[in-house]
Amino acid sequence: MGRLNQHVLRIQCDQYLTMLVDSHCHLNFPELLDNIQTIRQLMVRDNIAYALCVSVTLDKFPEVLSLAETYENFYASVGVHPDYEDTQEPEVEELVTLAKHPKIVAIGETGLDYFRLTGDLEWQRERFRTHIRAAIKANKPLIVHTRKAPEDTIQIMKEEGADKIGGVMHCFTEDLAMAKAAIELGFYISFSGIVTFKNAAQVKKVAQSIPLEKMLIETDSPYLAPMPFRGKTNQPGYVKYVAEEIAKLRGISFEEVAEVTTNNFFELFKYAKKQELVCK
Ligand SMILES: [Zn+2]
Ligand SMILES: [Zn+2]
Repeated sequence: MGRLNQHVLRIQCDQYLTMLVDSHCHLNFPELLDNIQTIRQLMVRDNIAYALCVSVTLDKFPEVLSLAETYENFYASVGVHPDYEDTQEPEVEELVTLAKHPKIVAIGETGLDYFRLTGDLEWQRERFRTHIRAAIKANKPLIVHTRKAPEDTIQIMKEEGADKIGGVMHCFTEDLAMAKAAIELGFYISFSGIVTFKNAAQVKKVAQSIPLEKMLIETDSPYLAPMPFRGKTNQPGYVKYVAEEIAKLRGISFEEVAEVTTNNFFELFKYAKKQELVCK
C-alpha cells in the first residue's frame, strides 16, 4: 500500500463523520489524469476518502480500470455513455464479463440524452436496454445518465426490470416527479455541482425534498465545477461544495450530509469495500 493511501485511511479514522465520497468522476480524462497526484493530495486534504471512476466507452475502459487497480480508494464502472454515437457498441455478455473484476462496482454510465443528440435515437434506447440486462446478470447496480428524456428513461427502466438491480440517477437535473419515480424503482438520486448554481431552482428543490437516505453526491469532473469554481476544471475534492450546498438547502449539518451520503454509497455499491481502518 502506498504512503498516500495510508494517509487516506488514517484520516478516515480520525474524522470518520466528515468523510466524503465522489460517487461519479472521469479521472481518466487527460486534464485530470495528468495531475492525478495533485488531485489525490487535495482529496486527502479535504477528506474525500473514495472516488468512483466512471467509464464512457469500451475503448477507454482499460484506463478507468487501471485507476481502480492502481489506487486502493478508487473504484470503477464499465459501460458506454449515450452521447458517444460512433463507438464500439457494447453487448450484454461483454459487459458482464468485464464487470466480473472485483473493483468494478457498477454498470454504466448508460441512459438517454435527448439534449445533446437529436434525430432517431433508437440506438440509444437499445444501448440502454443492453446495460440494464447486463447489470441484472452481473448483479451490479446501474449508473444512469438522463437528460430531457424523463418518460422514456422511466419506461425503459420499468420494461427491463431495472428495479431488480437498482442504481443511481447521476447528475440529476430533472424534476421532483421524475426523482420520485426513480426512487420507487429502487434508485438513488445523485447531485453534482449544478445544485450550487444560482439558476438551478428545480435541482435545489429536489435536493430539499427527497429523503437524505436516497441521495448521493458527485462531481462528474472534469465537468460542472461547483460554485465558486464554475467554468473551471472540476475535480473530486470539490464534492465538498456539493455537500455544503445540500446541508444549507436542508438546514442540516455538513457532517450529517457527509455521513449519510457516504453510507448510501456503500449501501448501493455493495461491491465497493470500505478499507480496513489503519489508526496507528
Ligand atoms: Zn453523465
Ligand atoms: Zn459522467
